[in-house]
Amino acid sequence: MTDTASPASYPTHPALVCYPAPVLRRKAEPVTVFDEDLRAFCARMFAVMEAEKGVGLAAPQVGVSRRIFVTDHARKKDGEKPDPRVWVNPVIESPEGVTTYEEGCLSFPAIYAKVKRHDRFTIRWLDEYGRERSERLDVGAGQFLGIVVQHELDHLDGIVFIDHLTPVQLGLCRRRLRDLEADYRKATGKTGSPIRR
Ligand SMILES: [Zn+2]
Repeated sequence: MTDTASPASYPTHPALVCYPAPVLRRKAEPVTVFDEDLRAFCARMFAVMEAEKGVGLAAPQVGVSRRIFVTDHARKKDGEKPDPRVWVNPVIESPEGVTTYEEGCLSFPAIYAKVKRHDRFTIRWLDEYGRERSERLDVGAGQFLGIVVQHELDHLDGIVFIDHLTPVQLGLCRRRLRDLEADYRKATGKTGSPIRR
């Protein structure tokens, strides 16, 4: 059966959105159409990620509420081969253990904090052609990609890394968050969706 639903309209010039933009708080919709429009959008997401020197970028971070993210974690280390990947409708299964890593986020410029994540898990997803993929990732064994995909998958559920912080950690970021809130007000005339705790 052919999916006759009209494809999502993806932006031709996606641009990074920052906290406290409300789209970062929305639960993103699954992708059902795997066509050239999707693949062209993914290519544009890679371009934004590279321009911003990120290792991962989720569609909501460019204002698109769809369950898509891209990664190229090897860009972080010199000498490692690039490994660009598209992850669509991803799901984490069988998580084990806990690990802590200092994370940052392109949508929270100049904020870094240690976040607790699963140490090992299986991730299932579809690539940009709709092909089923699955991989077991082990952060403790050196797979930094395991951190990146947990961070990016959170974005698809409207969760940002700041949500995982303790009150003390959050206190240390408070001034910078207020600056971002002021920037957003100045740019849009709106308050957006600031953190309330
Ligand atoms: Zn992020």
